[in-house]
Amino acid sequence: MEGRGLMDISFMQRDWKVEGIEVATLTGERARSAGSNGRIGDHGQSCSVRIARITIDGEAGFGSTGLLTEAMAEAIVGMRLIDLFDENGRVLESYRIPLEYPILDWIGRRKRLPVYELVSAVKRNAGTPLVVPCYDTSLYFDDLHLKDDRDAVELLKEEAAQGYAKGHRNFKIKVGRGGRHMPLWEGTKRDIGIIRGVAEVAGPAGKIMIDANNAYNLNLTKEVLSAVADVNLHWIEEAFHEDDALYADLKEWLRERGQNVLIADGEGLASPHLVSWAKRGLVDVLQYDIIYPGFTHWLELGARLDEMGVRSAPHCYGSAYGIYALGHIAAAIENFEFVEYDDIAIEGMDASAYRVEDGMFYVPDKAGFGLEFDEDVFAKQVRAGGWRR
Ligand SMILES: [Mg+2]
Repeated sequence: MEGRGLMDISFMQRDWKVEGIEVATLTGERARSAGSNGRIGDHGQSCSVRIARITIDGEAGFGSTGLLTEAMAEAIVGMRLIDLFDENGRVLESYRIPLEYPILDWIGRRKRLPVYELVSAVKRNAGTPLVVPCYDTSLYFDDLHLKDDRDAVELLKEEAAQGYAKGHRNFKIKVGRGGRHMPLWEGTKRDIGIIRGVAEVAGPAGKIMIDANNAYNLNLTKEVLSAVADVNLHWIEEAFHEDDALYADLKEWLRERGQNVLIADGEGLASPHLVSWAKRGLVDVLQYDIIYPGFTHWLELGARLDEMGVRSAPHCYGSAYGIYALGHIAAAIENFEFVEYDDIAIEGMDASAYRVEDGMFYVPDKAGFGLEFDEDVFAKQVRAGGWRR
């Protein structure tokens, strides 16, 4: 177990220094506008990603950046690359969210290896493609304007069919319509109809996940799970705000019924107790975000969760970059579940080397994170609302 996901940084030359950092926001669109979820209103169609380019030894690395200030960049420019890492080959905590993606991308490009090869937990046969299960995460409350439940079910079935045509076999459905956006029981009934309808589109082999964004309570959760007992339901995510007493009850109830539905949680304002509750068997799948706290954090957490027998499914909705990062982290975590896939096109970020087929995500054997950034678009966006140091 020790040493898993650690990078060999012995190739770094001691005089390699950070020569420049540029930051820009790239914009784009989802294939289809996304409605509300159990908590908040429409998610819409437009998307953006904040991307940093780091230049070291004359070569560039690109990647998602968060919390990177101009003052921080000012301090980092001139630093030695090796000083951004600890002695185990991990990006130091304070540089992770701001710069871990461009740094890892740079190392991959310099070594002419995909990042997944740098962090892989299992010895991979060179040349074999990395193929990871994925699911379509685009099924939001797009039906709230419809009065009739049958029309709502048809609409969500049509959306799932669009995903199926794009190669998806597994689907996550937003539920919890009765938590805020519809009257309690009407919304819950509609959730149930939609779960059954989407499961029909997915077919018996397709896995269904549902995500209530904490809009259910324990009894509502049981009502819904009872009503879809014959559905191939893989997990229920954020049924209600995580609570060990309530999760213990739900676990026991599922066990008594012989219903094998996993409990997934960890996005948003996750309880600090979640990992220990997972260790006690109350939570099966952990879902901290792939951008915050990020990739290096997941290298460490994923290894711990593997030791505990807990599954990993990093959250990334809303980040068009995170989708691709998930493909790479999958190689470092044995009990990795799925890439959360949303069909987003970002101008200037070419992800065409990746593909979805038959429920699987194909990660390209390309250097770094396997994404190509258009120099002209990036430079234009640096001038438009970004900065350089
Ligand atoms: Mg969620």
